[in-house]
Amino acid sequence: MNDLPLAEVDKSFISKLLIAQEGGHESEHFVQFYENDAFLIDSLSTFIGAGLRAKDVCIVIATQPHKNNLVAKLQANELDISSCIFLDAKTILSQIMIDGLPDAQRFEKVVGKLVADASTKGRRVRAFGEMVALLWAEGNEAGALRLEQLWNDLAIKCSFILFCAYPLNSFAKETQLNEFAEICLHHSRVVPAESYSSLESSDKQLREITLLQQKAASLQAEVIKRKQLEKQKDEFLTIAAHELKTPLTSLKAFSQLLKRHASKTGDTKAMAYLQRMNDHVDRLDMLVSDLVDVSAIEEGKLKLAQTTFDYDALVQDIITDVQTTTGTHTIKKARSNGPISITGDRFRLGQVLNNIITNAIAYSPMQDIITVRVKKKDKEIITSVQDFGIGIAQEHIPQLFTKFYRVEDNEMENYPGLGLGLYIASEIVKRHQGNMWVESIKGEGSTFYFSLPLS
Ligand code: ADP
Repeated sequence: MNDLPLAEVDKSFISKLLIAQEGGHESEHFVQFYENDAFLIDSLSTFIGAGLRAKDVCIVIATQPHKNNLVAKLQANELDISSCIFLDAKTILSQIMIDGLPDAQRFEKVVGKLVADASTKGRRVRAFGEMVALLWAEGNEAGALRLEQLWNDLAIKCSFILFCAYPLNSFAKETQLNEFAEICLHHSRVVPAESYSSLESSDKQLREITLLQQKAASLQAEVIKRKQLEKQKDEFLTIAAHELKTPLTSLKAFSQLLKRHASKTGDTKAMAYLQRMNDHVDRLDMLVSDLVDVSAIEEGKLKLAQTTFDYDALVQDIITDVQTTTGTHTIKKARSNGPISITGDRFRLGQVLNNIITNAIAYSPMQDIITVRVKKKDKEIITSVQDFGIGIAQEHIPQLFTKFYRVEDNEMENYPGLGLGLYIASEIVKRHQGNMWVESIKGEGSTFYFSLPLS
């Protein structure tokens, strides 16, 4: 927190920090975490309000909704906002980014110059910047950290007080601990979210810290317990899948033997039943194989062969194979590219393609065309499988390639599955230094893509 002993912090720490910056014009870069927008707007209006009253130069780089709420609050406090410089955070961000990262020169040109010019007029400069939080929310953590650094570099050249704010829920993952610590390190002061910083007395704050410490300790113990359970569950799945595989293989062999026998004796009824039995054994075999693959991936034991082969021929083979399993759909290949040399595991890459074509068939029951395209792009080969089926709502797309994820809606009740195929496929593609993604519109169909580096 700040350098005062905790007992002396008897008034809300945040308002002290926000209002009292009289005296020297040293740079200050602090970060406010918040749980609710209303609290952010309160803090921000205190910060900017104090600046306007002190005739500081005030610069606000905020999202449109936050700007509107701030303006309303400042005006409600009868403050004249005409001298305040408002900039749209998204627009400024688009002007300073190159290849997913804020560029130092562009930052200097767009933001640095503005702040530096303002600070030379003998008036103190206060700025609020929300671009870092936008980058963080997009999952661009590296971009956010880089931008924090650019602000700190600017603070060496000219003096200003910078207020950054992040919603606390954007750090809710256990794995974000280091990044959270890094964000804090980039700031000269860190202001906790409202459940702590709005407490008025030091006694209340000490009690809150104690409660938080207890909460952190119990959550940590719970996480350890759950990880152990998760491990046990994974071990059980691995053993169960391997144990199921052996009798299944025998079952399949014997049912095929029986079918051949029935065919010889002309027992058509038995043949029909045995065919249905075979289909179910095949389905079971696929499910068990998926479980075996998942445990191999989790344990880092998925072995991939390294051979160089003609990818176009593989695509053609898989299309021919899958075509024989469907009486309802036609699988079209856009056109032949001629030989394409790929180095990797031919069987596993065939499995990827098989999986997404099989899904395309399963999830387009009212349509009959599936189109497979293979295109060379720079040093990559991009394969796509397009269907015109049920499609996928946008909110499901980010989780689609995670383990056991299935879209849960009324329509999906009719489709059996474990939600493992896409996870396994994307892991195989990743292990070949490729990527997998999807474009889809609910009700109109989906196109699954994966890229692979050319040999
Ligand atoms: P499974 O199909 O066994 O459930 P997958 O991992 O292959 O598992 O697919 C995960 C989920 O993605 C499916 O449950 C389905 O909701 C959705 N999905 C996959 N492919 C398609 C597709 N072509 N069209 C619509 N939804 C799809």
